[in-house]
Amino acid sequence: MNNTYYSKLIFELSRKGRKGYALPECDVKGYALNELPSKVRRQGMPALPECDELTVVRHYTNSSNNNFGVDTGFYPLGSCTMKYNPKLNEEVVQMSAFQDTHPLQPAETVQGLLALYDNVQQMLCEVTGLSRFTLNPFAGAHGELTGLMTIRAYHEKRGELQRTKVLIPDSAHGTNPASAAVCGLKVVEVKSLADGTIDVDHLQELIAQNKDEVAAMMMTNPNTLGIFERQIPKIAKMVHECGGLMYYDGANLNPMLGVCRPGDMGFDVMHINLHKTFSTPHGGGGPGSGPIGVRKGLEEFLPNPQVLKKANGSYEVRNSDGALGSVSAFLGNYGIVVRAYAYLLSLGRENIAMAGKLSVLNANYIKEQLKAYYKLPIDGLCKHEFVFDGMREEYGGDHHDENSVKTLDVAKRLLDYGYHAPTIYFPLLFHEALMIEPTETESKETLDGFISVMKKIAEEARNDRELLKTAPHNTPIRRLDDVLAVKAALFTYKDLERQDGEKA
Ligand SMILES: *Cc1c(COP(=O)(O)O)cnc(C)c1O
Repeated sequence: MNNTYYSKLIFELSRKGRKGYALPECDVKGYALNELPSKVRRQGMPALPECDELTVVRHYTNSSNNNFGVDTGFYPLGSCTMKYNPKLNEEVVQMSAFQDTHPLQPAETVQGLLALYDNVQQMLCEVTGLSRFTLNPFAGAHGELTGLMTIRAYHEKRGELQRTKVLIPDSAHGTNPASAAVCGLKVVEVKSLADGTIDVDHLQELIAQNKDEVAAMMMTNPNTLGIFERQIPKIAKMVHECGGLMYYDGANLNPMLGVCRPGDMGFDVMHINLHKTFSTPHGGGGPGSGPIGVRKGLEEFLPNPQVLKKANGSYEVRNSDGALGSVSAFLGNYGIVVRAYAYLLSLGRENIAMAGKLSVLNANYIKEQLKAYYKLPIDGLCKHEFVFDGMREEYGGDHHDENSVKTLDVAKRLLDYGYHAPTIYFPLLFHEALMIEPTETESKETLDGFISVMKKIAEEARNDRELLKTAPHNTPIRRLDDVLAVKAALFTYKDLERQDGEKA
């Protein structure tokens, strides 16, 4: 790492009068600067950094190396499905046919793009066993909201306005209760059993208490602990009998691909995270796409606009009466849909089931090798991810001792070894959660490398606790005060000046 350039801002590298590139005098008559009316001309020079070309190149190249992505190293961030995103997807989406179009173009001039859109809708129906999809929502959470709005529209049409409660397991992703609240619905929390699955007896009680107020049950499968919910047919029957609908949070669809389908299990509405399951780079919070699908009989409630194939084989963008209004600009994040299409076609029907199975194999491989070192609260076969509850006591983990080795210390020490940390302190069911999702795209050598480092860290914890407590040691920035980083974040160069001023 080149420290000269590494920590400085481009403004700090600036030297007055230094030039990287000089533009020729503008020779277009009427457009030269001094011919613009003075009231639209800037009064002074813009405060831009002045650097030679090589300084600029090094600055940005070194800065890009400070980022950690799946292209630079193993990224086992549980719940996020950080699989490798084939470069082919990026090449395809950059083709002129996709880049040089406008969302307001008449449908007859973009028939190919609409066909692609419809093909993806059909493929998602086939993968999930549902009847129709919309690709409009921008993210998983946005899909949840749209799905719940669809469910509410269904109940309203039947005159059941009192159905305002959503049953959500305590292991659910935080977006589930948040989406329900944004949709104006009330959350009723369902407890989990010791094995991490839904407590069906508790659910039974809650249904008895809330009966005709139940709008829906939201479930994630495999759930947030990476465990397959075995009672789904029974749960679906209970919820349907009381008049509610079954919502499937499909963010964890990856391990299910080509193996089983939410539509066949009794779910009515679901969302998919295209950016997770169908490969789009999404580190740092975006961009995303959260299509929702519905079973037969609920199609009329999906949001506008809708892409539909007409009887004559051409495609139209239609706004249907009775549908939800628009939830996104135009047809959503089209670029993500194109990437998903490229990914689906390159895997093909035959290979898509391999993705799910390999993701499960990889997760179990890591879990079995490390469970002698890290506490595994729920033993047994997991799906695509699993959760440790900190380090085992033999290696220095102890929930009752504040000074023992914590999950945070393990996560920080992993950075020293060049690995992105797993998800930590989520889900909230355990004190020291460490959630690992390797995905199917990693080789056995990469998994073995990670496993040996995790074992090494456990040995270090036993022999030199301080080494872990003060990690990371080799990163450009040491352990941050994460509260201060949130409360007093430095966003601009000016903030930095202000901070320096305060120091002085
Ligand atoms: C990621 C995730 C979500 C939310 O998806 P976003 O695209 O981040 O909004 C919802 N549920 C589960 C289980 C997830 O893993």
